[in-house]
Amino acid sequence: TGINFEKYDDIPVDASGRDPPAPITNFEEADLEPLLLENIKMSGYRVPTPVQKSSISYGRAGRDMMACAQTGSGKTGGFLFPILNESFRKGPSEAQGGDGRGHYRSRAVRPIALILSPTRELTMQISEEARKFCYRSWVRPCVVYGGADIVGQMRLMERGCDLLVATPGRLVDLIERGRVSLSNIRYLVLDEADRMLDMGFEPQIRRIVEKEDMPGVDERHTLMFSATFPRDIQMLARDFLKDYIFLSVGRVGA
Ligand code: ADP
Ligand code: MG
Repeated sequence: TGINFEKYDDIPVDASGRDPPAPITNFEEADLEPLLLENIKMSGYRVPTPVQKSSISYGRAGRDMMACAQTGSGKTGGFLFPILNESFRKGPSEAQGGDGRGHYRSRAVRPIALILSPTRELTMQISEEARKFCYRSWVRPCVVYGGADIVGQMRLMERGCDLLVATPGRLVDLIERGRVSLSNIRYLVLDEADRMLDMGFEPQIRRIVEKEDMPGVDERHTLMFSATFPRDIQMLARDFLKDYIFLSVGRVGA
């Protein structure tokens, strides 16, 4: 499955926006957190894909990004690597805000990273990858999706949830039940944004991102991924991203 590294040099990669930083060239010389580098190697990754080369570099520069890339281009690492590199570097107290604000007695979990994805299968795949890259770190990944027992998911969340992978509908439900608070979010990812809109999730996505306790666009890092870049995705990018770099890998449809 996955990636044909032979054809790498043929893939056109284009970055636009204000001063996009240069992509990293390989994992070893990217000055990654040692634990993240170890976990990447243990997962069998040797060379970063084009999306990963750019996103690691943009993550370090604190930039938002909108990446258009096809299935199989390594988008999962593309968002997990910059998020985990920064989170491992800062450690739990700094990454979580450190001032104890909002930690009143409540059963809500307060993840620092939220990844929205359209389907149960995709959320599960992302959380499995995340589990490998988070191995032996303080970051605890957690996954929730619709069509499954919500009580069981709430129990698992209560054991620890720093990085939450969620389908939009189920997340809205958990927020409304007071089980998830967005107040600590530092990283927001919309994966397969075009598919989420095709499935009719735009109202839920807007309810989540525009919720009053979600940190504003200046207080969080936002990364969007989509195979295509039609008008409705352009509008979401305009509303959710700040000073973003537009990255296209391969040919992108409109
Ligand atoms: P996308 O989300 O763009 O469809 P994925 O992130 O799911 O792509 O990656 C597709 C497959 O390639 C997965 O099996 C993943 O583990 C593998 N993969 C991703 N990046 C690398 C890499 N740098 N080296 C080796 N395998 C990779
Ligand atoms: Mg994917």
